Amino acid sequence: MSENYSQMWTELGLNLKSHEKLLDVLGQAYRDIFLAQKNRPEGMQYFDFVMSEIHGLRVKELLDAKKHDRIVVGAFCTFVPEELILAVDGICIGLCTGAEYGFDEAEKYLPRNTCALIKSIFGFKLGKVCPYIESVDLLVGENTCDGKKKAYEILGTLHDKLYIMDMPQMKSDDGRNLLKAEYKKFQTKLEAISKKKINSENLKKSIKIVNNKRKAVQRLNMLRTAEPTPISGLDALLINQVYFYDDPIRYTNAVNKICDELENRIANNVGVFPEKTPRILISGCPMAVPNWKIPMIVENAHAVIVGEESCIGERGTQNLVDDSKDSVAELLEGIVDRYFKIDCAIFTPNPSRLDHILHMAKDYKADGVLHYCLQFCQPYQIESGIVENALEDVNIPVLRINTDYSQEDTGQIRTRVEAFIERISS
Ligand code: SF4
Ligand code: SF4
Repeated sequence: MSENYSQMWTELGLNLKSHEKLLDVLGQAYRDIFLAQKNRPEGMQYFDFVMSEIHGLRVKELLDAKKHDRIVVGAFCTFVPEELILAVDGICIGLCTGAEYGFDEAEKYLPRNTCALIKSIFGFKLGKVCPYIESVDLLVGENTCDGKKKAYEILGTLHDKLYIMDMPQMKSDDGRNLLKAEYKKFQTKLEAISKKKINSENLKKSIKIVNNKRKAVQRLNMLRTAEPTPISGLDALLINQVYFYDDPIRYTNAVNKICDELENRIANNVGVFPEKTPRILISGCPMAVPNWKIPMIVENAHAVIVGEESCIGERGTQNLVDDSKDSVAELLEGIVDRYFKIDCAIFTPNPSRLDHILHMAKDYKADGVLHYCLQFCQPYQIESGIVENALEDVNIPVLRINTDYSQEDTGQIRTRVEAFIERISS
């Protein structure tokens, strides 16, 4: 990190000793996993810089923005509409929940058989090591899976800025009405805490900003369909992870810049791995920063990940909001339409997710699909059997992995992944 941020972290109430240890571990992991890769696009230097300043410069930017009366909103789910937050000149931060940290403390509040993502929320809060969660003016919890919605009841006793957004469970008219009502309530809440009104001008502008961000990532995804693929799955995942906390306009420029470079690579037939490297699509639970275990295992075993059917991936970035309308009410309808298409496994039934996986497998020319689930995540675990059957029916091999954030099962997963790669290569 280029500056000493100790004073900033102290003022945020972080536990400096634990925080330093965490940054040391993360820094080492980053060097071993990302910087050790060969043939990376030059444009990744921007994302390396962002990661190196993950608890430094970006947090300083947020605190500076707060001094200028801008609000910071933390979110755990891709259903939180960034457009409304930007429309009140706020900043939306997707909180990383991808590390096994403070689980002993978290388990004093939560049953052991809670998914690692939820435990991570508590571990970071209780361990006082996340400058983002300590900076927010509003922390949005959403009633998605049972684990999250019950855990938020307890999180509300630990964090006084928690706001709960209800969520539909079915893609029905009533479900859409519920989402719309919740987004309207959210709009009112944002206007109250920011003391700024949402109007058609600022909403239209914010829709364009977020649409442009999604378009840049969609462009990146499209380039990954090339053979040989011009970027590793690890680097592409990192770009998808940075999506959630970087400044959206700066991020969009950086993604488009790397896409220009990748287009050159494709024109010159330059790949990050040799031609004929087995291509794998990942599908399932989100992989939040710094959850890099599975992609690392896959790519170290000489396969390449070509796409992510995940909220930190294409499930989160597909579909744009209609920005052609002129009133706040019409623009809000467009926002509801777009978010209501997200095919999270909390919905029942959820056939569009299956269609999306089948399309992605075809479009990205995947030789196989790795279905990734966090242990104790019932929605995705239950859907994994349905996904496997549908894919195997059309002769796309599937490997189902259930894991957590620990490194204990790395050897066992590596063995299964290697056998799977052998199967899809033959
Ligand atoms: S998997 Fe579902 S609950 Fe989790 S971030 Fe995605 S939409 Fe939200
Ligand atoms: S991974 Fe599964 S159980 Fe965990 S928060 Fe997401 S949907 Fe809920």
